[in-house]
Amino acid sequence: MKITDIKATTVAVPLEAPIRHANGCHWGRFIRTIVEVETDEGITGLGEMGGGGESAEAAFKGLKQYLIGHDPLQLEQLFWKICNPTASLYNNRLQLHAAIEFACLDIMGKKLGVRACDLLGGAIRTKIPFASYLFFRHPNEFTGAGGEETVDQMVAHALSLHHQYGFTSHKLKAGVFHPDHEIEVFQAIAAALPGHRFRIDPNAIWSVEESIRVGKAIEDLPNDYFEDPCYGLEAMRRLKSRCSIPTATNTVVVNFEQLAACFRNDAIDVILLDTTFWGGLRQAWMAGICCQKMNLGIAVHSSGELGIQLATMLHLGATLPSLSFAADAHYHHLKDDIIKGGKMKYEAGMISLPDAPGLGVELDQDKLKQYKEYYKETGGYRYDRDVERPEWYSITGDNNRWAKLR
Ligand SMILES: [Mg+2]
Repeated sequence: MKITDIKATTVAVPLEAPIRHANGCHWGRFIRTIVEVETDEGITGLGEMGGGGESAEAAFKGLKQYLIGHDPLQLEQLFWKICNPTASLYNNRLQLHAAIEFACLDIMGKKLGVRACDLLGGAIRTKIPFASYLFFRHPNEFTGAGGEETVDQMVAHALSLHHQYGFTSHKLKAGVFHPDHEIEVFQAIAAALPGHRFRIDPNAIWSVEESIRVGKAIEDLPNDYFEDPCYGLEAMRRLKSRCSIPTATNTVVVNFEQLAACFRNDAIDVILLDTTFWGGLRQAWMAGICCQKMNLGIAVHSSGELGIQLATMLHLGATLPSLSFAADAHYHHLKDDIIKGGKMKYEAGMISLPDAPGLGVELDQDKLKQYKEYYKETGGYRYDRDVERPEWYSITGDNNRWAKLR
């Protein structure tokens, strides 16, 4: 089989309301590049890539000169053709590779009549539990949805997501307001949902000392883990020596070199595996297996996804034996999707693994067209800026630059 074309289409899909994080904000929409890899056997595979508010169309166009004629079943060759680590010092294509690799697994599954997870050892589970992903939100300027920032508003938001989707694990995206306010919000959410599990993630914005202070304040809660409170393996090692909550990262262990360093350095307990950051579903799966064999915890990370990438997260979650935490997803913040049948459904906080061959999702061409047009109207956005504080930018470890409560 041979790849005959790679099509890339940038879409903007609206969020219920702009969601805030330590580096800025998703400005009311996700920008994603949807990839269709065509073959000489008439099978098309689907991929997806994010990019912090920007289109990656031009970069995919550049890959055609490498990959037209490539056999999509040859995943190891695919990696070395475009991701040799020394060549990548100039052109880092790991995230582009992820989207192409998703598409190749989709093609392979469709050709063989098996699910993508069956190409990685099969499914241990077919329902993947998810955590609510709680963000401080700006109000949607058109609908008025969102706008949560006080303790009461955030508790109401958590309860509403629990009632709507059935989540029993909750993740607070912190690092926006003064840590004292975020501690109060986190404690109140935990008090409002007895028997549930919790995790807090300020995107590595706090200093080590501030992280220790916050850690001490929340240590008695039923925490899954303490996700990237400060930046760097060494910082996390220092934190871990002073705080009893298991540490987790999706920031400083995102490749195999860093994973090797992590095994030697008692800094991180749980590795959050992202199918884009690690360079693909198969790459994230390999990292997950390494973690399992070395007795590190694992969870599935979300870097913002539409249905194609969500499918890769479901296949990853299905196949990893030692997955013991609910996965993260931004998905419930989206108003729509570009896959046939509309958004995938949560039941009791879980999403079912698709059972059709490959990734198991199909592109809705009308939706693709609709959200391509929406991207043309609205354009990209600066992921690492706050729409309401255009002059501000984040500095890791500087604890005096918080947003003000309205
Ligand atoms: Mg994180």
